[in-house]
Amino acid sequence: KTTPLGSSVIPIVNKLQDIFAQLGTHSSIELPQVAVVGSQSSGKSSVLEALVGRDFLPRGNDICTRRPLVLQLVQTKSKSSGGSDDEWGEFLHLPSNHRIYDFSEIRREIEAETNRLAGENKGVKDKQIRLKIFSPNVLDITLVDLPGITKVPVGDQPTDIEARIRTMILSYIKQPSCLILAVTPANSDLANSDALQIAGNADPDGHRTIGVITKLDIMDKGTDARNLLLGKVVPLRLGYVGVVNRCQEDILLNRSVKEALSAEEKFFRSRPAYHGLADRVGIPQLAKKLNQILVQHIKALLPDLKSRISNALVATAKEHQSYGEITESRAGQGALLLNFLSKYCEAYSSLLEGKSEEMSTS
Ligand code: GDP
Ligand code: MG
Repeated sequence: KTTPLGSSVIPIVNKLQDIFAQLGTHSSIELPQVAVVGSQSSGKSSVLEALVGRDFLPRGNDICTRRPLVLQLVQTKSKSSGGSDDEWGEFLHLPSNHRIYDFSEIRREIEAETNRLAGENKGVKDKQIRLKIFSPNVLDITLVDLPGITKVPVGDQPTDIEARIRTMILSYIKQPSCLILAVTPANSDLANSDALQIAGNADPDGHRTIGVITKLDIMDKGTDARNLLLGKVVPLRLGYVGVVNRCQEDILLNRSVKEALSAEEKFFRSRPAYHGLADRVGIPQLAKKLNQILVQHIKALLPDLKSRISNALVATAKEHQSYGEITESRAGQGALLLNFLSKYCEAYSSLLEGKSEEMSTS
C-alpha cells in the first residue's frame, strides 16, 4: 500500500523529471529513480515487468535490453474510485497523447526503437528510450531497465563491450539519488555477483542498494536461498528480496504475469525453507519495500533539490535580465518553463510544511 506522502510527493517528482528531460541533458539536477543492474539474463527485465504487472519488455536468453529504458509508472484512478481501469503506454519519441493500449505493441515499439539506434545486430547504445505506463495497478515509481553486463562481444559489439556497458550502468547508479536493484540469479554464486560488485562500486555504504535474488525455482536440488535472503552470505544494509519469475518456457507458452504471481506465491507457500521470511520473498514484497525506501529517499532529497532549483532560478533570472526585453525568443520560452518549475517548487515545499505541522501537532 502506498503511504499518503508517497502518493503526493512522487507524482511531483515525476513531473519535474519530465520537465528536465525536455530541457535537455545540461540540467544539473539529479532526480531519484530506481535502476536494475546485473549480468545478462539474470532476470532484470523480468523483475521490472513483474513489478509493473504487465508483459511489455523484450526478454530472453540472449541480449534483449540494448538501450537504457526509462520507465515511468503513473498510477491512475481505478474504475471503483471514479476513473477507469484502462492501462496504456506513451513513448517520449512518439507524438504526445499517442496512447498504446496493446502491451505487445509496446514491446514491438521498444524493439523497433532499439533497432533504430543500436542496429539489428546486438549493438548497445546509451541513448535512452523513455516510456510512461499509466495504470491503476502500479505504484508511482520510475524504473530504469539497463543492458546486462556481458564479457564476450557478439554481433556488432565492440571488443570493449564489457567496459562500455559498465560505464553506461555506472552513469546511472553513481548518482547519489539513484536506488539500485542488484539482481543476482540464485543458481550462481553470490560472491561472484556482477550486480553486487558494480552496485558496491557506486554505493559502497549500501544505503541505496536492494538485493534481488531471482530464479529461486531452479536452484540445485537440496539447496535453498534462506541464508542468502537473511544476509548471512553477503550482508547488505537494505537486505534482499527473493523472487520467482517466469522461465523461458512460460514466456513461450504466453503465461501471464498474473499467473506467474500466483505461481510465485504458491512456490513460497510450499517451501518450508522460506517460511517465516514473508517480508523477504515475492514480487509484491519487493514493490512494497521499494516504495517505502523511495519515499524516504525523496524526503531526504527535497531540501537540497529545492535549494538547487532556487539557485538555478536566480542564475537564470540574472541571465534573463541581461537579455533585456524578450518576445518570442528561446530565452522567453525558458523563462516560461522556469515559472512552471517554481510552481512545483512551491507546491512541494507547502506540501512538506503541511506534513511537518501535522506531525508537530499530533
Ligand atoms: P535480463 O537479461 O537480466 O533482463 O534477463 P531476462 O529478464 O531477459 O531473463 C532472462 C531469462 O531468464 C528469460 O528466459 C527468463 O524467462 C528467465 N528467468 C528470469 N527470471 C527467472 C526466474 O525467476 N526463474 C526462472 N526459471 N527463469 C527466469
Ligand atoms: Mg533485460
